[in-house]
Amino acid sequence: MRILVVEDDKDLAKQLKRALEEAGYAVDVAHDGEEGHFLGDTEPYDAAILDLGLPVLDGLSVLDRWRSQGRAMPVLVLTARDRWSDKVSGIDAGADDYVTKPFRMEEILARVRALIRRAAGHASAELECGALRIDTRSGRATLDGTLVKLTAQEYRLLSYLMHHQGKVVSRTELIEHIYHQDFDRESNTIEVFVGRLRKKLGEGYIATVRGLGYRIQPPGDAED
Ligand code: CA
Repeated sequence: MRILVVEDDKDLAKQLKRALEEAGYAVDVAHDGEEGHFLGDTEPYDAAILDLGLPVLDGLSVLDRWRSQGRAMPVLVLTARDRWSDKVSGIDAGADDYVTKPFRMEEILARVRALIRRAAGHASAELECGALRIDTRSGRATLDGTLVKLTAQEYRLLSYLMHHQGKVVSRTELIEHIYHQDFDRESNTIEVFVGRLRKKLGEGYIATVRGLGYRIQPPGDAED
C-alpha cells in the first residue's frame, strides 16, 4: 500500500513518513500544494494525507482538483484546531475523514487503515483468505494461527493482494503500490517477492494468471 503525505511542516511530514513506513506503507511526501496535487494526479496512491494550510496551492483546492479530475483515492484531511469550518469545507470538497492538529500518530494510522480497508470493500481490520489471515493493525500474517515471518516488502505485497482478493493484480500495479516514488523499481523483483511468499505460505495461495498478473485465493480455488 502506498500513501501520499502533503504537509508543509517538514518535521511533521518526516514524522508522518517514518510512522507510516514503520506501519508497512510505501510513502511519498510533498511539501506544497502544487507538488502534492501533481503527485496525487499522476501516481496511484491507496490513500492521501492532506494538510489544508499549504503554500502555492491550498489543500482544499488540491482536493477539489483531484476530485474533479476523477481521482478517487481516500483522503484524510489535517485541519488546524477549532477550525470547524475547515472540516465542513474539507468534507464538501471530497475528504473521507479528518484529523485535528495536534494529533496522536496512532490516530492517523488507525484512520488510514480504515480508509484503505473501506476503499477496498472490507469492514474488518483482519483480512482472511482460507487459513491465511493478516491483521492490518499489527501488520502480522498468520497461517493456521501460526505467525508467518515476513519482511516489510513481503508484507506490503501480501497486504495489497489481500485487500484485492479474488482480483487479478498486474505486476505493474504491484510495483506502483508497494514502492515509493524514488525507489529503484525493477520489475523482476516482484517475481522474487512472490517466490519468497509462496515458499512461506505454501503453494496455492498466490496464483499466476499468465500474461495478466497474480491473484490471491484460498488453495483449491485454482481453476480459472
Ligand atoms: Ca500547513
